[in-house]
Amino acid sequence: PQSLLKQHHVKANIGKVFGIVSGKGGVGKSMVTSQLAVTLRRMGYKVGVLDGDIMGPSIPKAFGIHEQASGTEDGMIPAVSSTGIQVMSTNLLLEHETDPVIWRGPVISGVAQQFWTDVIWDVDYLLIDMPPGTGDVTLSVFQSIPLNGVVMVTSPQELVSMVVEKTVNMANMMHVPMLGLVENMSYVLCPDCDKKIYLFGQGKTQEAAARHGLDVLAQMPIDPALAAVVDAGRIEDFQGNWLENVAKQLTK
Ligand code: ADP
Repeated sequence: PQSLLKQHHVKANIGKVFGIVSGKGGVGKSMVTSQLAVTLRRMGYKVGVLDGDIMGPSIPKAFGIHEQASGTEDGMIPAVSSTGIQVMSTNLLLEHETDPVIWRGPVISGVAQQFWTDVIWDVDYLLIDMPPGTGDVTLSVFQSIPLNGVVMVTSPQELVSMVVEKTVNMANMMHVPMLGLVENMSYVLCPDCDKKIYLFGQGKTQEAAARHGLDVLAQMPIDPALAAVVDAGRIEDFQGNWLENVAKQLTK
């Protein structure tokens, strides 16, 4: 894969690059990517999020970014969130953010590559919200962006399925280190007694993760307050800190 890596066309300043992957859509990959960016930013780092989920871009919405991206002769300029997180996403290229992306595979892969080669990033950490699954766009992102590692996001039900295995295998075949697992929607906190209610049973996580050779870096509850801040575009206001351990792994 090394030979396919695309060079930057523009002057960018990028420290380390981490991909956030999932076996399928809807498990909270984008939410984890955004929250991880917020956590790293709070630690004082310069952070960027490259929304590689070209068909289902949800990063700008979580940060309340609605303007279109601007370009200069020197390259594309990322949007900047209220706390200074740099963001590039297909939604910033569309005239209306509800427009569907009606491009075919090769074009989509090309856009993801351009977000790497043509955007003037200035970051210590660049997080890539990878396309879900192990399809051609995911493969092309793996091939065109040199990742320092990937973090896997799953739901408890998904953790025991074959799609996790496939995603782990894809990272291995691309020689990208798998840093570990974030299990999302693991439990619900009882609002009255603070008890953790494990909807899908407890204790299977460690075992299933170990079977895939993954460290469990974090377990996150289903949290209506989190869903609300994401919907409102105010993820930077959310005070939950479930991903501190993940941030520590990336920065050590
Ligand atoms: P993916 O990127 O894997 O497709 P998203 O991050 O877009 O998934 O999450 C899907 C939806 O579920 C979003 O509306 C998101 O706000 C919500 N969501 C994800 N994780 C949680 C959680 N732990 N608690 C509450 N809502 C969540």
